[in-house]
Amino acid sequence: MQFHHHGYVSGDPRVSPAAGTGLDRPAELPDEVDVLIVGTGPAGMTLAAQLSQFPDVTTRIIERRDGRLVIGQADGIQARSVETFQAFGFAGRIIDEAYRICGMNFWSPDPADRDKIIRTERTVDDPTGISEFLHLIVNQARVLDYFAEFMANSPSRMTPDYGLEFVGLSTMADHLARNLPYGDQRRLEIARAMATDPKLILLDEPTAGMNPQETRQAEELILRIRDSGLAVVVIEHDMRFIFNLCDRVLCLVRGRALIEGTPQQVQSDPRVIEAYIGTGPTDADATADGLTPAQQRAESVALSEGEPDLPAPRGGVKGA
Ligand SMILES: Cc1cc2nc3c(=O)[nH]c(=O)nc-3n(C[C@H](O)[C@H](O)[C@H](O)COP(=O)(O)OP(=O)(O)OC[C@H]3O[C@@H](n4cnc5c(N)ncnc54)[C@H](O)[C@@H]3O)c2cc1C
Repeated sequence: MQFHHHGYVSGDPRVSPAAGTGLDRPAELPDEVDVLIVGTGPAGMTLAAQLSQFPDVTTRIIERRDGRLVIGQADGIQARSVETFQAFGFAGRIIDEAYRICGMNFWSPDPADRDKIIRTERTVDDPTGISEFLHLIVNQARVLDYFAEFMANSPSRMTPDYGLEFVGLSTMADHLARNLPYGDQRRLEIARAMATDPKLILLDEPTAGMNPQETRQAEELILRIRDSGLAVVVIEHDMRFIFNLCDRVLCLVRGRALIEGTPQQVQSDPRVIEAYIGTGPTDADATADGLTPAQQRAESVALSEGEPDLPAPRGGVKGA
């Protein structure tokens, strides 16, 4: 019915009549466009697919690779992502070809006969039912193919322009982004976000994989952004980073807000200590970096619980 709400039209309802920019689309990148999208990753392709529906807006998407992604790194497709695919009309087809995850089994040596392994635990993948859709395994490259198909069938007949690299950072004009040190690459990502002139910036694990020096530099950068009057929301595994950096901290346990307050308030709240730090660690348990094993466990748990759902204060840094 969604396809035929203006009456039945013979032919493939997924292929829209060409219109606007799709009628006379130049093969080369034009000198001027309304929207230039850099990169055909999931973010770029989702945006491009959406904009491809507006043939009066000249949108082009460029990619420095020579062609389509052949094998992507990601393959775990969360159920809420599949909802997004439904919005573009290809959820059903991708579900058909994907592997569905419905649980996970854990195996250990059999205590009675250690030459054998036995199943010791089975977990349900989505006990709370986050979505009516499924949790899938399908390669990211395949997902991008579906977005590309949607774009090609849209009124604007959009296709990615492969083999084009965007360069615009004057201080690094002679360097390819991929050749920058890891910390600089992460800062470049933040610069890309800043280039959109946002009111609020969301940073998901901005220090993942960074060494202590890079982490300190990232902290300084985020504080500079904060000082420019922008609200910053940070999700981070590194609890020291969060408590040093943030004006307000929102602590989540199993996806629910436990407490929001200053770092001092949150750190000293008994419920936070119980949920994240654990009770009863001894000095003898402390490791070389000064954290007890319970604290180390807490770091990995703390920020895998969910995302904050509260508005960030303007001009502040809020962490979870
Ligand atoms: C090992 C690994 C495993 C992962 N597994 C999962 C998983 O199972 N499930 C999941 O949901 N996520 C997973 N992820 C995360 C997921 O891959 C990313 O979140 C996602 O790819 C980010 O999409 P993006 O569009 O923002 O960026 P990217 O996918 O990085 O795409 C950016 C694109 O921009 C292009 N580009 C960059 N700079 C330029 C330029 N200057 N000019 C032109 N083109 C440019 C790049 O070539 C690239 O194609 C994984 C990531 C890694 C590294």
